[in-house]
Amino acid sequence: MNNLQRMLNDIEMEVELTHNFIGKDSLDKRVMAAIKQVPRHQFIPEELHYCAYNNGPVPIGSGQTISQPYIVAMMSDLLNTKPTDIILEIGTGSGYQAAILAELVKQVYSIEIIEGLADKAHSRLNKLGYNNVELRTGDGYFGWPEHAPFDGIIVTAAAPYIPRPLLDQLRVNARLVIPVGFPYSYQELIVAEKMANGEIETQMILGVSFVPLTGKCYAEAPHKAPF
Ligand code: SAM
Repeated sequence: MNNLQRMLNDIEMEVELTHNFIGKDSLDKRVMAAIKQVPRHQFIPEELHYCAYNNGPVPIGSGQTISQPYIVAMMSDLLNTKPTDIILEIGTGSGYQAAILAELVKQVYSIEIIEGLADKAHSRLNKLGYNNVELRTGDGYFGWPEHAPFDGIIVTAAAPYIPRPLLDQLRVNARLVIPVGFPYSYQELIVAEKMANGEIETQMILGVSFVPLTGKCYAEAPHKAPF
């Protein structure tokens, strides 16, 4: 069995183990096909290629990580994407999650606060031919109002609370998938869905561990209890 197949099996096994939380025994086949399609080693520093297909996070520099493949797959699944969708990602990091989304939807916009990471992600995505991903350096707290409303928003860093601009930039019936909680401590993955009347319904999915969403959100409420 090759490393990629082992990673896919590990994701499927973890989905089964967490089915009580995520409400399903298997993920959308389109999501698993996207995971199979994107070469994860291309998003990881060369000296760490040996662990590119482990089901775990990997350092990408600047104190940041590429997320665990199971988490990437599960969050992509929670977005309920369609091929015609326009999706916003906050926290480009290596660009891996953006590439997975680019396989699933029409257009991806992604914002990264660390310029060096954004530059590297930009050249990787270009080299791999992902011309339906547009990147910007900045604080994702504010979203990307010029391209709103979005058919889904995914945040890949933990926020102390859900940023209001992101909810405002969601289309009706669209979902925001976001880890909310304390930095390097208790965090909960949340799905916030905008109802037809504009109300937001939230669902707590499961406990996760992400690097913090820095910028305005964290500066305002670094130590407040989110729940
Ligand atoms: N999605 C990434 C990938 O596929 O490699 C992994 C994301 S990493 C867990 C979280 C990223 O969020 C880091 O690159 C970090 O710099 C970025 N980040 C943190 N706060 C941010 C903010 N306010 N706006 C945009 N990006 C932010």
